Amino acid sequence: MEKVMNSPLILDGKKISEKIRGELRSNISEASREAGREPGLAVILVGSDPASEIYVRNKIKACEKVGIRSFSYKLAEGIRTEEIIELISELNAKEEVDGILVQLPLPPHIDQKEVISAISPSKDVDGFHPENMGRLLGGIEEGFVPCTPLGIDILLGEYGIELKGMDVTVVGAGFIVGRPLSALLLRRNATVTVCHIHTKDLAKFTSQADMVISATGVPHLIKSDMVREGAVVIDVGISRIGGKIVGDVEFESVSKKASAITPVPGGVGPMTVTALLMNTFKAFRIRTGIQSTSTINP
Ligand code: NAD
Repeated sequence: MEKVMNSPLILDGKKISEKIRGELRSNISEASREAGREPGLAVILVGSDPASEIYVRNKIKACEKVGIRSFSYKLAEGIRTEEIIELISELNAKEEVDGILVQLPLPPHIDQKEVISAISPSKDVDGFHPENMGRLLGGIEEGFVPCTPLGIDILLGEYGIELKGMDVTVVGAGFIVGRPLSALLLRRNATVTVCHIHTKDLAKFTSQADMVISATGVPHLIKSDMVREGAVVIDVGISRIGGKIVGDVEFESVSKKASAITPVPGGVGPMTVTALLMNTFKAFRIRTGIQSTSTINP
């Protein structure tokens, strides 16, 4: 008899995002009426990297749909660090702006650390300011958690996947995903292993994990012989091959072993944008003193 293949639970970030954004829309509408203005997000894009342009466009569109006003700043590639900081100072002081997002990566001549540090921590909805990163690492609940780790945490929560006590291997230790994600997982009482480009034997760590989360940008790095039967697999990677978007995980083969898996696209990507909307609404609520009526709060 033929073996009946496992069919894993698809962790549908698109569907969960739609649900959360629907709820957000009505909460924002109510809160905006109370505050006399809409929440505002300033988005700064430097240069014309095509992928960054798409991400920014998607974020602005998502804002519009839930009732967040966006302020878009497209700056020339050759701009100096000081000029970006000047704009950020103006936005820090601007009443209608609750959140400030600088689309990364910045061109190499820009001092990214200086730019991020110039954002007021109370408007740092991307959560990359050292103060917010420090809070995350220190296990302090206040502050903003970076959007991709937050989106993953919310997605797992929506599917009832309990992180407490789980062995989680994070592949990738980047500033945007791997590092803050590891800190968030630790906050959730998971046992966290972090692998990166210098890890000697990646499969040794992925194959014994209850959950593998990959955020490297290396297409199809995670193959089925690297994950154990029944593992939860979260694919953060986004790469473009021949016009097609692929993740870090070889979905076809890995999904036959996994108990739950995120697709690319439609998994972590939409959850990242949803987390940004939630963080912006949170900044607005803190700044206006309006209480949350939502069931999911970042
Ligand atoms: P990054 O370049 O800052 O970090 C990549 C990490 O992967 C590094 O720690 C590096 O050591 C590690 N790495 C690279 N090759 C490896 C290998 N062969 N084995 C093990 N580790 C390896 O990247 P990032 O900004 O953290 O982004 C990672 C990926 O996630 C990218 O594909 C990016 O596009 C994607 N991303 C997706 C979302 C989303 O919403 N889905 C959001 C942010 C980033």
